[in-house]
Amino acid sequence: MDLVDCGKSANFAQTNRPIMKFSDIIGNEQAVQQVRNLIDADRLPHALLLHGEPGVPKLALARVMAQYLHCTDRRDGEPCGQCPACCQHETFNHTDTFFSFPYWRKDKNSEACCDDFLPYWREFLGDCPVVEDYQHWLELLKNENSQPEILVRESANILRKMSMSSFTSKYKVGIIWLPEKLREDAANKLLKLIEEPYDDCKFILVSDNAKAILGTIYSRTQRIEMRRLGTQRVAQYLVDRYGIDTQDALAVAAPADGNVLQAIHSMQQDSEVHEFHQAFVELMRLAYMRNLGMLRNWAERVADMKREKSRRFLDYAARQVRENFIYNLHHPDLNYLTREEQQFSTRFAPFINEANVERMYEQFRLAAEQIAGNGNAKIILFDMAVRITILIKV
Ligand SMILES: [Zn+2]
Repeated sequence: MDLVDCGKSANFAQTNRPIMKFSDIIGNEQAVQQVRNLIDADRLPHALLLHGEPGVPKLALARVMAQYLHCTDRRDGEPCGQCPACCQHETFNHTDTFFSFPYWRKDKNSEACCDDFLPYWREFLGDCPVVEDYQHWLELLKNENSQPEILVRESANILRKMSMSSFTSKYKVGIIWLPEKLREDAANKLLKLIEEPYDDCKFILVSDNAKAILGTIYSRTQRIEMRRLGTQRVAQYLVDRYGIDTQDALAVAAPADGNVLQAIHSMQQDSEVHEFHQAFVELMRLAYMRNLGMLRNWAERVADMKREKSRRFLDYAARQVRENFIYNLHHPDLNYLTREEQQFSTRFAPFINEANVERMYEQFRLAAEQIAGNGNAKIILFDMAVRITILIKV
């Protein structure tokens, strides 16, 4: 049987290299040029609002702006990436840059401010180098019960930081992510500073929904709107960044309607399907060859996916058994296979028949149940794989 080409699992994980150049910002060339010119001419307003819908890379641009502002060796309109200021920016530790963002407090007497959440924030910036993802921030905060806000305690923190003179740079930069989440008392505390800041202070506000910002804050900013991207531009980004096929990139980009984040999410889901398919093909090939040594390695690798993902793989494998059985019945309207899966089914489907389909399906279901019940995944998966070696030849 020709079931080779199992290959290695796809890896579309986002590279976590921090964004460090204007050229890394997707689309919005006009806005990028505008802020670069402002910095070059040393005319950056003391409070600039970057706003646009979610899924548009506004926070990334704010970060590059701060880095460019601080870089001591700008080159061709980009930060150098090598000077001490750039190095600090790329590890999210620049001494004259601070971030404010929505957070929550454990109880109403808590004095928490953003500094208490910095480990989460750095993780967030590392996880979202391209486009900020509010949902991911909520996941990192691990608090489903209350809406995060920027509280008055944080405004006091901002006032304190801005009142100190800058350490190493001409300008201190305060990046406020989602000013629409400033509570009213917190916003009021900032009004005077935003209107009449110290000479060495620059605020960059980054908003998903400018209409929700308090009017008193909004009116004190200069504003640049960033726009959703076209499908072609999103697709091109996916091709450049992840090396995927242009046709696949367009298929993912079109339904995302210019939202890069959504396109990346659906591509990553697709990549999981691809990874599961590869693992399924490999299992069947090794089971057919009765290669127990390699099957043991296979079981270890699938167990390493971690519990939840292993279970998703087993659900996937169970479904593939059914799909391949249906494939034999020549009812294409009842089959739900990707192109890649269908290609494999042309060779593999004949091995799934009335005598083994239910029993093989049950093996996957049973293994999923046992793993959910905290069993040892390596043992369960290897045991299952051995049974498949018998069933595949029935
Ligand atoms: Zn530099």
